[in-house]
Amino acid sequence: MNRIIVIGGGFSGLTIANKLTKKARKYDLDITLIEPKDHNFYEPDLVFYAFNNKKMSKLYKLMHKLVKKKVNLIGMRAKKVETEKKKVILEDGTVLYYDYLILATGVKYIEKDFKYSEQQHIHNFYSPSATEKFRQMIKRFNGGTIVISPSTVPYKCPPDSEEFTFILDSYLKKRKLRDKTTIKFLYPLSVPFTVKEAAVVVAEMYKKRGIEFVPYCNYEKVDIKNNKFISFEGEEIEYDELVLLPIHEGQDVIKESGLGDKEGYIPTDKFTLQVKGHPNIYAIGDCTDLLLLKLVLFPTILHLQS
Ligand SMILES: Cc1cc2nc3c(=O)[nH]c(=O)nc-3n(C[C@H](O)[C@H](O)[C@H](O)COP(=O)(O)OP(=O)(O)OC[C@H]3O[C@@H](n4cnc5c(N)ncnc54)[C@H](O)[C@@H]3O)c2cc1C
Repeated sequence: MNRIIVIGGGFSGLTIANKLTKKARKYDLDITLIEPKDHNFYEPDLVFYAFNNKKMSKLYKLMHKLVKKKVNLIGMRAKKVETEKKKVILEDGTVLYYDYLILATGVKYIEKDFKYSEQQHIHNFYSPSATEKFRQMIKRFNGGTIVISPSTVPYKCPPDSEEFTFILDSYLKKRKLRDKTTIKFLYPLSVPFTVKEAAVVVAEMYKKRGIEFVPYCNYEKVDIKNNKFISFEGEEIEYDELVLLPIHEGQDVIKESGLGDKEGYIPTDKFTLQVKGHPNIYAIGDCTDLLLLKLVLFPTILHLQS
């Protein structure tokens, strides 16, 4: 029997565990999925939920309804992986042995310097609770300056900040508040997206809609008292409301198992998804370092071509 353990039951882990069941008989697979949450939720819709009145509960689906019968679902957190002994230690001390391991742990958000989530004028739309907080604010909003910025590169979904900015623009137009509002989009690159063709289109659309684009602007900190975004390059940008995408890092289990780089992302072969230096371990989704490669390489190529 081939024991396969998948750690993390988000989109990547869930998909891979379910897909493997199709090969279970042929390759004599025993598939285990470790996921502490009892639900999976649909992140891409958060961008739209920020501006609608739908119930957040619509985004959730129960794990046991999504997982195929042939997958053993364990509702616990993996604490550590000991690669030499091919074992996974769970939070309650249970030990599971594998022949193949698949890491799909996604990223975690961290709060640096202060609790962003508790600040009245700082928002994001990366979790249901943060999106709900933004919703409450935007309903009461009567005009002013809204600043949008990522706080680290890489982040989960590069297009979503542009998507959010466009929806914000049309939402404010509908409420006849656009003339009373300045929208500023801050970005670490010279262009407002990571892929050349799209960057050109987004830049034009921003110009047409009067959305101010601030290039080469990397987040350093926020001066909460004076409502100022301060960039690594020394710029100070005032806001009434700041939409600051959270700082991302790899999960603790990856770091503690010595499987990540210094930020906890897993060095992964982009063609095979094999974890570098570990022939029987694979990684998929946000936990890999592949997003980072994409974000660093594309802008560099873009810069060299321009
Ligand atoms: C607002 C927003 C909009 C987006 N829009 C799009 C889009 O339009 N298109 C697109 O392709 N992508 C989009 N994305 C990105 C997409 O949602 C993510 O890339 C995707 O969810 C990543 O899936 P994942 O399985 O790798 O990670 P996740 O979905 O984060 O899952 C990781 C899982 O691992 C579990 N886990 C963590 N640590 C442990 C542990 N120690 N033990 C066991 N389990 C653990 C977690 O509980 C979690 O369930 C968007 C993201 C956001 C936030």
